[in-house]
Amino acid sequence: MSMFGQVFVKNNQYKIKGDFHHLTPNQPIRNADDSWQLMGVTNPRDMTYIHSYGGEAVFFKSLCQGKLMATRCDNPDCESRGTIYQPFRIHCMECLGKNTVIDMTDLAKNTATIHTFMVCNRSGAFTILDKPIKFINIEFDGVATILMSYLSIGEPDIGMKVVPIFKKSSPTYTILDLSWVPAGTPESELPEGFGF
Ligand SMILES: [Zn+2]
Repeated sequence: MSMFGQVFVKNNQYKIKGDFHHLTPNQPIRNADDSWQLMGVTNPRDMTYIHSYGGEAVFFKSLCQGKLMATRCDNPDCESRGTIYQPFRIHCMECLGKNTVIDMTDLAKNTATIHTFMVCNRSGAFTILDKPIKFINIEFDGVATILMSYLSIGEPDIGMKVVPIFKKSSPTYTILDLSWVPAGTPESELPEGFGF
């Protein structure tokens, strides 16, 4: 059994197994300038957070299957009817109705271009992406919103055509399972575990 807590859902309830926090011994904090007098203690904390995806679960499930899902308002009474949202919006912000989930993989493969980008040589805590991180904002034909993601190969440029890649092997079931490469990149050059 994993040392980390595990969760599944049955009868619409979380069923949890394993340890969701670990007791780690604390350590004294001492003052090197004053005979190593006691100043305090460290309190190590290690906990597992249960993060529910709710209505967005289908988006994350589809990434490892090589599919990019979006949503669209299909309410005939809504002024925003037909508007496509990527990133995935569960509800239409205009009519508050539930959007329809659509597969926009082909649309992304054919029309994704870099709207703008940002190259970061430093990152925040717990980021596991290789540095420098090439964050890109991606626009798609017929999509009302712009998606933030990261470019895995090459140097980003405004207007550059890119295609999605998906972590099909050992997926993390997070947004990191989706990345982008310049259009025309051969599959053999993709990062480990990724495919088109
Ligand atoms: Zn609507």
